[in-house]
Amino acid sequence: MAVRPITIWGEPVLHRRAEEVTVFDDALRELITDMHETSDAAHGVGLAAPQIGVGLRVFVYSFANDDGVPPRGVVVNPRLTLSKVSGSAPDPHEHEEGCLSFPGEGYPLQRAEWVKVEGFDGDGQPLEFTATGWFARVMQHEYDHLDGRLYVDRLIDRYAKKARRAARRHGWGVPGLTWMPGIDPDPFGHGDGDHGHDDEHVHTHGH
Ligand SMILES: [Zn+2]
Repeated sequence: MAVRPITIWGEPVLHRRAEEVTVFDDALRELITDMHETSDAAHGVGLAAPQIGVGLRVFVYSFANDDGVPPRGVVVNPRLTLSKVSGSAPDPHEHEEGCLSFPGEGYPLQRAEWVKVEGFDGDGQPLEFTATGWFARVMQHEYDHLDGRLYVDRLIDRYAKKARRAARRHGWGVPGLTWMPGIDPDPFGHGDGDHGHDDEHVHTHGH
């Protein structure tokens, strides 16, 4: 069990489709434990396996929701069914999203308000639930990672330009870059002494 380094934009595993999980064994359960520990150390609300360099279709989440779903869990080999995404411009305050693999930045993006999630838990048992609002956003964000897509790939022009500039400024876009939760400064400003975090901020930023 361990906190693992988080891959940054440009690392190839983030930009290709992850593979289906075919064996539900101790190695998978250890991966899931590490993903939860890494997400917690990074003050994240979700983390996908490619974000710790593993090209498998697995994500974890930690998100108190109004949908009657356990606030912490894993989805293996997920399938998502989405409600229609609004075609209107995203609101910079209401819809700002962030990613642990594009650390410290945030841009608004429209997402479906509602998703059905189907998949498996770490023991291979089928699971199914519905997520709404921010929880639905987390599901869509994590699922995208498994198809090699980050939220910054979905931005409208004006924000996509800003994201490209930020990546250049940080020197991202090349293989091999990572950051270490709990050791490197928290990119979204959630320090260790900061136990009463601003929920909105956590929701906004840590996927
Ligand atoms: Zn992300």
